[in-house]
Amino acid sequence: MTAPDRTIELISSELSGGSTSARAVAARTVGAAERLNGMLNAFLQIDREGALRRAEALDGEKGGGGALRGVPVAVKDNICVRGMQATCGSRILAGYHPPYDATVTERLNAAGAVIVGKTNCDEFAMGSSNENSAYGAVRNPWDTERVPGGSSGGSAAAVAARIVPAALGSETGGSVRQPAALCGIVGVKPTYGRVSRYGLVAFGSSLDQVSVFGLTVRDAALVLQTIAGRDERDATTADVAVPDYVSQFGGDLKGARIGVPRALLGEGVDADVRARVEEAIDAYRSLGAEVVDVELPHAGYSIAVYYIIATAEASSNLARYDGVRYGFRAEDPKDLREMYRRTREEGFGAEVKRRIMLGTYVLSSGYYDAYYLKAQKVRTLIQRDFLDAFEKCDAVLTPTTPTPAFRLGEKTDDPLSMYLSDIYTCMANLAGVPGVSVPCGLSSNGLPVGFQLMGPHWGEPVILRLADAYERAHPLAARPRVMAAE
Ligand code: GLN
Repeated sequence: MTAPDRTIELISSELSGGSTSARAVAARTVGAAERLNGMLNAFLQIDREGALRRAEALDGEKGGGGALRGVPVAVKDNICVRGMQATCGSRILAGYHPPYDATVTERLNAAGAVIVGKTNCDEFAMGSSNENSAYGAVRNPWDTERVPGGSSGGSAAAVAARIVPAALGSETGGSVRQPAALCGIVGVKPTYGRVSRYGLVAFGSSLDQVSVFGLTVRDAALVLQTIAGRDERDATTADVAVPDYVSQFGGDLKGARIGVPRALLGEGVDADVRARVEEAIDAYRSLGAEVVDVELPHAGYSIAVYYIIATAEASSNLARYDGVRYGFRAEDPKDLREMYRRTREEGFGAEVKRRIMLGTYVLSSGYYDAYYLKAQKVRTLIQRDFLDAFEKCDAVLTPTTPTPAFRLGEKTDDPLSMYLSDIYTCMANLAGVPGVSVPCGLSSNGLPVGFQLMGPHWGEPVILRLADAYERAHPLAARPRVMAAE
């Protein structure tokens, strides 16, 4: 018998029942993080003292406190937390300590969460395996010879290894849903504009959203409703009320319509992934939902469009790292030009340089119309595909990833095959719609598989409720090999 997972639900009930203290929870969490980090490399910073101090202060407060009171969470290293580093997995931001909190950090703190550390990630969130971190790859808790996915792999591994019940990551093209699937946990990417990007280091600004990992759908939803909502400091956040997602869970699925784009379940999908996803579709039928065929005719272009738009935006967002304002600066340059050149040459890794070059190319005169402008037009067609699909269904179901976790090093020499890991995820970012990845069993060699549900803009309540209904009926019984001991 495995002990029950220490979900937010369990931790909160123990805290309110008085059988544990926030300090004891924080001490256990930090201990597990320190013990497992040698194996997983999930954390770039573990803030033992800060976490214990904060937990003690919460224990000393009178009254109930916020929804996450005493709950330990981890935060990806591209999100600003005052008092901690924010390297974004890059050498160019080594030693950078932001002097302010991201809005999501402020909201976590206001809700009583205890931030225990900053998690490893692909450099500037560019990658699908976490092998692009300047601080070494993260390992998958299910099999440490395999990748956890990326770019938010450290947060995914920390949750999967049961160090924390929930963590923040960021998505530009799948960086939370993809590692969630590969690590057997839940990952939610909200609607673009649902969560503030203030204090999230920019990669592709029209695609980026802070996103959430949880051990359960409920945990992820609880964290999302805590951080979501309008923020004066990010003009792209929408003035749309944040519903209480969790209180809408339960009830039957009669009348719910799940759309399946059959064409995306054909070639190129691993046989185990296909089998598990077909079982999940059947499970929805058994739960009373109707399964309907939908088409996303332009989905096949999403990788190409994504790698034009994301790199174009990245090339301009990353121009600010010039050795003057932040982090790393090359030593002994002979003049200003050489300082810029060598700082960027020595400070950025290979994948980041590849993206800056690709992005600069697609924006350059003579190529702008052929690449960038055309990609924007196809992006609109992809958005329209979703609008059409949501005429016929409440949520679109696909695999989250084409394969389970691959081996470390397996795709590092072949960027194109690495980019194909995002084939099911990046379309939601292009369309701005929300998506959730839910574990749905294991492959024949014991690795987790996930399916995803994508919903219309602001459709988080629908996809989270559907995801929770599946999870209740089919909880993942297996646990990763590497796990925080009870
Ligand atoms: N893997 C994708 C990329 O490399 C997505 C990254 C992300 O969502 N941050 O760009």
